[in-house]
Order: sequence, then C-alpha cells, then structure tokens
Amino acid sequence: MPHKDPIVRKEYKRLYYLANLARIKVYRRKRYLTKTAQIKVGTRRYYLANHEAMKAAKRRYEKTHRPALNGTRRSYWAKLREQVIKMYGGKCKCCGECLLVFLAMDHIYGGGNRHRRTFSSIHQLYRWLREKKRAGFRVLCHNCNHSYAVLGRCPHNDKANKNHTGRMLGQRRERSDNGVSMQ
Ligand SMILES: [Zn+2]
Ligand SMILES: [Zn+2]
Repeated sequence: MPHKDPIVRKEYKRLYYLANLARIKVYRRKRYLTKTAQIKVGTRRYYLANHEAMKAAKRRYEKTHRPALNGTRRSYWAKLREQVIKMYGGKCKCCGECLLVFLAMDHIYGGGNRHRRTFSSIHQLYRWLREKKRAGFRVLCHNCNHSYAVLGRCPHNDKANKNHTGRMLGQRRERSDNGVSMQ
C-alpha cells in the first residue's frame, strides 16, 4: 500500500482532490441524483454507528478553534444580517429606527416561527431572503416587532399616541455625540 504514513497519505489525498475537483463534483452530483435513497440510508447508518465519535470530534475541533470560529461566525452573521436588512429597506417600517442592532426581519402575515423551522438555521433563512426580494417580509425594530407579536398592532399607530414625542414614522430623535438622548 502506498503512503503508509497517515500524514503523507492525507496530503496525497488532499492534492488528488484538488487536482480532480471538477470531475469529483460532477460524479458526486450524478451519484446524488440517481441514488438519493441509498445515500440517505447509508448516511443514516453511518451516523447511527458513529455519531458519538463525530460529536466528540466536533467538540474537540470547536474547543481548539473557538476564537477563530467565533470571530468568523460573528462577522459572517453580521454581514449577512446587514445585507438582508438593507435589501429590505434598512429601517423600521413602523417607527423609522435605522440603527442596525435594533432591527430584524419580520413576517408581515405572521407564522414566523413555523416558517423559520423549515430552515435548519437562522442563517439559512437569511440566505434565502438574500437570494431575491421575497414577498411578505419587512424590517421592524425589536420594539415594534414585539408589539405586533403580542398586541397584533404597534402603539406607534394608536390615536392616543398621535402626539407621541418619541420616534414616529420618519422622525428621528436627536442624539448627542455620546449616544445619550437629548430629549
Ligand atoms: Zn420600530
Ligand atoms: Zn412601532
């Protein structure tokens, strides 16, 4: 057997993979399309037999790579969030809040949790939103979002709050340089 040394073998395999990437991708795609059912059974069997070891390996990897992983994930998520929120208007549809940290995507017609669960992660949902502009979504700040969720409306729009001195649509509160409200 060539390359008895595991390190040499690993490097050999890596180089082979890189050199034949295009061919391998075509092969995998074809195999996936024609043998989906068998692959699923095989994957499941492998998972059942090895999932403890896989989990342990993942934990080990996360532990040794945590700072790097955290940094990459955080910046990836921040960028994705920013892209999506800007794409859908970049400010709260209700009160005009435009600081990114206060904003989130909202399902206009509700059902947000159910819809979110059809994705494996929040990242996937945001990637899906980024693919093209989807109907039924808007940007809301967390305050307005919460109000719609618990009250079904936002008090910003109530008659009683017509003269509300806080942030109404299109109005921005003046802020001093240190971020403290001047009002
Ligand atoms: Zn708002
Ligand atoms: Zn509001």
